[in-house]
Amino acid sequence: MIKSPYRILTYFILLLLVAIGTGWLVNDLAWVLAITLLGWSAYHLIMLVLTLRWVSSKKADPPELPGIWGDLVYTFYRKQKSHRDREAALTSIINRYQQSSAALKDAVVIVDAQDRLEWWNSAAEDLLGLKPLIDRHKSILNLLRDPRFIRYYKRRQYQDPLELLSPINDQITLQYSITHFGEGDRLLVARDISRMKQLEQVRQSFVSNASHELRTPLTVMRGYLETFLDQELPRPLMRGLQQMEQQAHRMEGLVRDMLMLSRLESTRHVTDEYPIDIHQLLSDIKRDAIVLSADKAHPIELIMDPDYDLVGQDNELHSAFSNLVFNAVRYTPAQTPIVIRWQITDTEAILSVEDKGPGIEAYHIPRLTERFYRIDESRSSESGGTGLGLSIVKHVVIRHGGQLKIHSQIGLGSRFCCHFPLDHIIRLENLTSPPHNN
Ligand code: ADP
Repeated sequence: MIKSPYRILTYFILLLLVAIGTGWLVNDLAWVLAITLLGWSAYHLIMLVLTLRWVSSKKADPPELPGIWGDLVYTFYRKQKSHRDREAALTSIINRYQQSSAALKDAVVIVDAQDRLEWWNSAAEDLLGLKPLIDRHKSILNLLRDPRFIRYYKRRQYQDPLELLSPINDQITLQYSITHFGEGDRLLVARDISRMKQLEQVRQSFVSNASHELRTPLTVMRGYLETFLDQELPRPLMRGLQQMEQQAHRMEGLVRDMLMLSRLESTRHVTDEYPIDIHQLLSDIKRDAIVLSADKAHPIELIMDPDYDLVGQDNELHSAFSNLVFNAVRYTPAQTPIVIRWQITDTEAILSVEDKGPGIEAYHIPRLTERFYRIDESRSSESGGTGLGLSIVKHVVIRHGGQLKIHSQIGLGSRFCCHFPLDHIIRLENLTSPPHNN
């Protein structure tokens, strides 16, 4: 460290005083002063040259210089050394980080605020087909061109991951997730979930095949039971047969719902969408609900926006909406009103089913759409439910780009709302003849 930056001034003043004294003694002040200043300047010029030579050379060790120049060179040397040490430590951290990211099986890509590729690991080359050197600083949207990815990327809200096939290998399914960081930068991670998908497909096809296989024996059993029930048989036997018939009926419902769920799970989006005559669909459901309600005589009101219809899959939507309406009939006491409402707002379309029944406690609500989740096991089985109804509703609504929301208050009733985006809505004058899917 430089001991005292003012020391050089002190030396200079002392030198001047000595020169003035000497000049006065020899009676030639001007010459003595000139020689002294020249000597002083020459000395510091030489020191400056030596210092600059060392600074511009690649030599690490500083030259041995006297006085203030030695201090200066040494201080500079120490600062440079600590800077170099810090740089080496940072480089080693970055290297380790890059090595560990490169070793990741997931593709990791850093994208800057202008959507340009900044850095990626080697898995990104295998899974996304990025080419080192060639693709650097290219726009990610020019390289990953699937419209669903572009939509997802531009949305800028990445709570849910996106699943797509790899752009270079259609045997690989990737799950993309994006995180914001820094100033507008984004970190994209693409994970290979092909194996998980395969296992999921095996599970789905097992459920689907098992349900399918159960249908035939059940139909045979029900046929025989109906035949026996038509006979004059002793009363205890009759009661047993009636119960068997009820349970066989319930099993048929279960098999039907399990088949429906596994079909819904097999694809994420509806592919065969058509304009649906929602007014007819809801009127049919209301008519069936009145039959189901029978002696309980629930007043069922249907309020509909007359100008708009929904675009989607007829059978699925019929199944979802009827599940909601039939639940309202099954889980509310006799004569409590039920309102089915189809309304369009500025941002969405909502199909809601509202009842003034017993309501559902808040802690049950997030779990209601789980398979076989029931609030009251005995009441649900009694009511003929399979425990899969709301799960089916949720899947159908998601497949139509929407969301199921449940609002309920104990003692006041419940409201089940299916929210659909406006791109699934059509104005009635644009409606082409709706095909019949049944
Ligand atoms: P389930 O076939 O048993 O009816 P769901 O998935 O349709 O199965 O419904 C799950 C549970 O949610 C039901 O068991 C019932 O307890 C409750 N539930 C559904 N709809 C209503 C409603 N409108 N009012 C009160 N509880 C309801």
